[in-house]
Amino acid sequence: MADATVIDGKAFAAKLREKVAVEVTRIKSESGVTPGLAVVLVGEDPASKVYVGSKAKQTVECGMESFEHRFDESTDEATLLALIDKLNNDPAVNGILVQLPLPDQIDEQKVLSAIDPDKDVDGFHTTNVGRLWTGGDSLVPCTPFGCSVLLKDFLGNLSGKNAIVIGRSNIVGKPMAALLLAESCTVTIAHSRTDDLPGKCREADIVVAAVGRPEMVKGDWIKPGATVIDVGINRIDAPEKGLNDDGSPKTRLVGDVDYAGAAQVAGAITPVPGGVGPMTIACLLRNTVVACCRQNGLADPGI
Ligand code: NAD
Repeated sequence: MADATVIDGKAFAAKLREKVAVEVTRIKSESGVTPGLAVVLVGEDPASKVYVGSKAKQTVECGMESFEHRFDESTDEATLLALIDKLNNDPAVNGILVQLPLPDQIDEQKVLSAIDPDKDVDGFHTTNVGRLWTGGDSLVPCTPFGCSVLLKDFLGNLSGKNAIVIGRSNIVGKPMAALLLAESCTVTIAHSRTDDLPGKCREADIVVAAVGRPEMVKGDWIKPGATVIDVGINRIDAPEKGLNDDGSPKTRLVGDVDYAGAAQVAGAITPVPGGVGPMTIACLLRNTVVACCRQNGLADPGI
């Protein structure tokens, strides 16, 4: 089989952000409302700081209002819950995102449950989880939503396809399975205890890998012509790139799929970086616009 088609998530995400910006302009001119996203960061985790910075920047670039709330590592749960209450009641805030992980003294589930489900643009509130599984109007977690958008754009109708989701986290694996089921796929959810994972993968027309193990899914696990969505983001040593000033090897990002091997067999595949990653923030912006329309009784933006 020839090399797989590369599904360009970076380009797709740029187009989605343009559509969001068009909708923001429409909402402003039709209703005078400016959609707003509040992002809450507790602590100094470098990766979280980068994510929050990117989210705020892209929010503003799409014409929306960005509200950033940063707290130090020692902040207590009551302070955070008081802020969530304030944001829930602020009409200028249509979406609330609390960057995870939170420090140990804060009960993550308690904080996520305190967010108004209609402003829960991360889709982690149990009300939105329930709506997703029962076919209601939910806000869907951004990363799996981005994967499903890419799959539908590339494959069209997913009905009847065998899909395997590797990973059962609340953030990616489980909502991904719900989305594929909603598209009438026959879905297998695989995890660390799954027996004969390579064999189960080989039966799948769609493979979504969300494990967090570098290049675990090998080329000979893939059914010829299958579509492979690689959610994993893993940093590995790349001594071929040379050394840093402190003598440590330089690093590079890889997914959960052995890209070179899988691309020989698959029909299509997302690269890492440049595949699923950029879709996550674009879908967050999309969710904020959707939430804003619902809160203000405006027509669904259809994006
Ligand atoms: P997680 O650690 O919460 O879950 C990993 C899942 O993989 C678990 O359900 C576990 O059962 C399963 N697993 C572990 N070892 C396995 C094995 N050997 N075989 C089969 N299954 C196994 O991780 P997560 O939050 O779901 O994230 C998964 C990956 O996706 C990570 O690399 C993460 O960085 C990446 N991620 C990317 C984005 C993005 O924006 N692209 C967003 C979220 C997560």
